[in-house]
Amino acid sequence: MVSQLMKRIVYNKYSTYLKKQYGVRVHRVSIDTGFSCPGPSPCIYCNNSSFNHFQKFNLQKVPLKDQIETGLRNIRKKFKAEKFILYFQSGTNTNADIKTLAITYDLIRGYDDFVGLNIATRPDVVNDQVLSLIAEYKKDYQVCIEYGLQSIHDKTLDIINRGHGYQEFLLAYQKTKELDIAVCVHLILGLPFEIEKMILATAAEMTRLKVDAVKLHPMHIIKDTVLALRYKEMALNFLDFEEYRQLLASFLANLSKDIVVYGLNGYAPEEKLVAPSWISIPNIIVRDFEEYLLKKGIYQGMLVKE
Ligand code: SF4
Repeated sequence: MVSQLMKRIVYNKYSTYLKKQYGVRVHRVSIDTGFSCPGPSPCIYCNNSSFNHFQKFNLQKVPLKDQIETGLRNIRKKFKAEKFILYFQSGTNTNADIKTLAITYDLIRGYDDFVGLNIATRPDVVNDQVLSLIAEYKKDYQVCIEYGLQSIHDKTLDIINRGHGYQEFLLAYQKTKELDIAVCVHLILGLPFEIEKMILATAAEMTRLKVDAVKLHPMHIIKDTVLALRYKEMALNFLDFEEYRQLLASFLANLSKDIVVYGLNGYAPEEKLVAPSWISIPNIIVRDFEEYLLKKGIYQGMLVKE
């Protein structure tokens, strides 16, 4: 039988990290500002409505305060959380004028139990003024900017229509770290035409940069996306669960043990998912994966030369 102590060290899990910091269960409350992405067309895999799996309705039509209060109520009940992180998740949450952003981020101040502010955005939609505004919240909250990147390879970024290259990420990352704001990088494993060597190069680069956190997803197809229309003609293969498990284990072995792993499974509700079907059972994936790492003797950072 695997001990709880061993379970804690196979990878630097976000929930464990938060529990250590605050001594109680901490959970994110995800809200949708409706701040859309710039550019004429979305990333080929993106359907923003699939992010909000707690709600079956379109959150953008719900006032933000109501979203927060519903989220707090639901998460308190479902997860018995005592402290919370306000999570601006869907879309590009720096894509508005500075006054609107300040009013929006300031919503956090209306609720006592928030300890953190997480803002998801794109690396090409931040500037000095926005970063300075976000840095002000560090006085009172643990602040993290989550940058969508998905891959360090420009060829891949082009195929998935990110609309920015790796250099733009590096520039945003540098400016963010100059203000001592934590950075989480979103990455997708199994992107079109990426071989294992390319994916592990992304892990090594995150280690080199000393990013604070990563959020990992397997590639999957959501309805009403460009990918859903084109994946057959692109002759894309999707990782089956076993392949993803192996790839993820190799990725973590090449990732510094100091980098917190915000997530490793992705999620899409069954009714919005095209493939692969195993994506819609997230808790099983996480549990299984932890057991897998233990069984194989693999742990985060084991191949990193410090
Ligand atoms: S940047 Fe994010 S929210 Fe915007 S289209 Fe791409 S994946 Fe979707």
